[in-house]
Amino acid sequence: MLNPLLDLEQLPRFDAINVTHVEPALRQVLAENRATLERLLTQSELTFATLVEPMEEMQHRLMRVWSPVSHLNAVTNSESLRAAYNTCLPLLTEYSTEVGQNEALFRAYAAIEAQESTRLDPTQRRLIEHALRDFRLAGVGLDPERKERYKAIMQELATLQARFEENVLDCMNAWSRTYKNAEDLAGLPPHVLERARETARARGVEGSVLTLDQPNYVAVITHAESEGLRREFYEAWQTRAAPGRHHDVRFDNAAHMESIVRLRHEAAGLIGYPSFAALSLATKMAQSVDEVLGFLGELADHCVPVARREFADLEAFAGRPLNAWDIAFYSERLQQERCHIAEEELRPYFPLPRVLAGLFRVAERLYGIHMHERTGVPLWHPDARYFDVLDSSERVVGGFYLDACARANKRNGAWMDECIGHKKMGGREVAPVAYLVCNFSPPAPGQPSLLTHDEVVTLFHEFGHGLHHLMTTVPYPSLAGINGVPWDAVELPSQFMENFAWSPDVLGWISGHFESGAALPEEKMQRLLGTRTFLAGMQAVRQIEFALFDFRMHAEYRPERGARADEIIEEVRARVAVVPHPAFNRFAHSFTHVFSGGYAAGYYSYKWAEVLAADVFAAFEESGIFAEDVAQRFLASILSRGGSRDALDAFVEFRGRKPDIRPLLKQSGIAA
Ligand code: ZN
Repeated sequence: MLNPLLDLEQLPRFDAINVTHVEPALRQVLAENRATLERLLTQSELTFATLVEPMEEMQHRLMRVWSPVSHLNAVTNSESLRAAYNTCLPLLTEYSTEVGQNEALFRAYAAIEAQESTRLDPTQRRLIEHALRDFRLAGVGLDPERKERYKAIMQELATLQARFEENVLDCMNAWSRTYKNAEDLAGLPPHVLERARETARARGVEGSVLTLDQPNYVAVITHAESEGLRREFYEAWQTRAAPGRHHDVRFDNAAHMESIVRLRHEAAGLIGYPSFAALSLATKMAQSVDEVLGFLGELADHCVPVARREFADLEAFAGRPLNAWDIAFYSERLQQERCHIAEEELRPYFPLPRVLAGLFRVAERLYGIHMHERTGVPLWHPDARYFDVLDSSERVVGGFYLDACARANKRNGAWMDECIGHKKMGGREVAPVAYLVCNFSPPAPGQPSLLTHDEVVTLFHEFGHGLHHLMTTVPYPSLAGINGVPWDAVELPSQFMENFAWSPDVLGWISGHFESGAALPEEKMQRLLGTRTFLAGMQAVRQIEFALFDFRMHAEYRPERGARADEIIEEVRARVAVVPHPAFNRFAHSFTHVFSGGYAAGYYSYKWAEVLAADVFAAFEESGIFAEDVAQRFLASILSRGGSRDALDAFVEFRGRKPDIRPLLKQSGIAA
């Protein structure tokens, strides 16, 4: 019987895939790819059509086989799946380094660039340019000994980064607290209490059990009246995968962090970069370490004074000096007093089905596409759903899965990932498919999931990434959708979409009381809009703090003194933080974006792209946010173009000038 992971004629067969399929499928596709590569290189004529396109096909196939595995590992993590996944990671890394270091292949691409440059179109030329760059970054030019070392580093990094993330997930899963008295949990929203009682029932204990997932953490830190409870959760959350009284020492990430940064630095040195930060910029829009530090410094200059005033204001409101675990709680209360609105009070107005319908309407207005839910598609969990994306002539142009709510063994956070990449080669087009994953509060029995506005914004954000993936017209997988897009520009389409969740028109479309169906009352809407810039300075400096920490740690690494994570975070906080941090805070130990994700020496990308997104949205505002010509220009210049063109050129073509920081400062109320 065919291994279902290798059945690429349809959507992934999540009903048939099991853990025993993982390693054999990967081994098979890697072996086939290796054989194909060898055969391709023996051809008498190596051209774009005979070499590059088949290489694109191979990579596309590999990603299709692997994508369901890495997805399942994130959304239905289990011991056996994790073991299979971890067995495969080194195989994948080995393969990609081997291809990246293949000198014959490198020479062939270089020859194609030299010989065919006049015949190739700009997308094809860019593809080759990127490929040549990536060969160099994989160490193709190194002598055999260094090549081996480089390869070994890549292997070790892949393993360590996966371990880092596992430790975070495991220590969260291992942590829970039982509360016997209802008073202990005073202030928590009813749906959180209900879930806590359910968890206790399921575990056969009396009272309520709070686990350490994101919705619970946010609920406690924002709403718990007991300072002791807030502190307990804050400490548990901020010391995930760190030594301390909350988590088992076997989950400690300290040694992994040190090794990860050391190995990244060594790899950068091998291929001629002074630091991993410099290497990271080789594929980004920002040009130099100084440019990034200058950018973050400029933002900090604008935001820190505002954040200081906000924090002083918050302490004045609370009537006492505040600790880190008090911030969300008093912010929420101050917001209620100033804006007369409570985050939880809006939940009944944002039932997920209604929000989705409104979100789809936005996509239809902007780009003329619409969505149809398709049933009968194999899914990994009954909560997941599948939607076809259709153009105005009812042609299916893509699709996406949505897995909206938090549950055990699901990685926290929200993200979009590629299930099937777009391609159009050899007369055949494959439509793109995305995974959209969030961790919203699970619904109460018999109710839809009810979202806070914050969660609505998250959904719009991930959908923005989804549109980037789905609306692409680039024929080659390595440049289609988010592929080949500089990481510091990749958050443009997602942060751009967030703006629509703040539009009064759109708020009308996405809101409808889950019982009465009533839209969000005008008065509540005005109050909600008033919250957009609330404590924006404090939020901004937090992001700047993370970005500076990440970037400086990678830029300043020296083998003799190590990563200095704790020292650097202290220095950064002294410069930009306004909230005092307790000595036990070890947030870096669970900073998966940087230690296991793609944001290493790239966390600044969020702020960088936010500048781009706010500036793009300002262009929409100038003509009405649904102006057809502006949307079409955005689609043509940026959204559909993936990595097929320079990100700055694309921006300038759309906006008629270089990016400007002011729309972001204005949007967040930071500019005077
Ligand atoms: Zn994003």
